Amino acid sequence: MSIASNLQSIQSTIPPHVTLVAVSKTKPVADLMEAYAAGQRIFGENKIQEMTEKWQAMPKDIEWHMIGHVQSNKVKYMVPYVKLIHGVDSLKLLVEINRHAVRWRKHINCLLQIHIAEEDTKFGLDAQELDSLLASEAFKSLTNVSVIGLMGMASFTDNQAQLKREFDGLKALYDRYPQFTTLSMGMSGDYALAMECGSTMVRIGSSIFGTR
Ligand SMILES: *Cc1c(COP(=O)(O)O)cnc(C)c1O
Repeated sequence: MSIASNLQSIQSTIPPHVTLVAVSKTKPVADLMEAYAAGQRIFGENKIQEMTEKWQAMPKDIEWHMIGHVQSNKVKYMVPYVKLIHGVDSLKLLVEINRHAVRWRKHINCLLQIHIAEEDTKFGLDAQELDSLLASEAFKSLTNVSVIGLMGMASFTDNQAQLKREFDGLKALYDRYPQFTTLSMGMSGDYALAMECGSTMVRIGSSIFGTR
């Protein structure tokens, strides 16, 4: 199967209110250009240096999403062009993103990553940490970043009941904040279920570009 036909068959299963992020980490620019030629304009990467190299090499109407864990000291490299940062899991990181956004006179949208997996290996805030972050004066004083929603990664499992529990939990948390517009959940293996549970943004890599 070609990248274009993979994209087409995935797009045909995604309703219009759900945004497809093509996760292109580790893949060469030629593969991304194949997706671009097929109409894809939103790409997700998990390493700032790799994303920056691809941004430099590729057409400028692409929206670049950072989906990986972000190190504070690398924020400055992506602020000039990044459109949405999915994996923000601390106030400290938001403050750092805001600081560079102010310098560049940019406004950056972020998602807060919530820990939903029953594994303890994945990053993210819990419900209480989310509440207190959003309620803090330090957060409210940030001028150049907006938190537009939440992101979560479910457990690495085939257990549908468990995945549903994790996605439902994230959706319930998301629904507590009427200002949110974006719920990023679902990857190649679980995006159909994630959409049933209310996802508005799916991050799909291997089903488009092949295994890594
Ligand atoms: C790699 C990655 C994906 C895509 O995973 P696939 O299983 O290849 O679709 C989605 N989200 C995050 C955060 C990732 O790191």
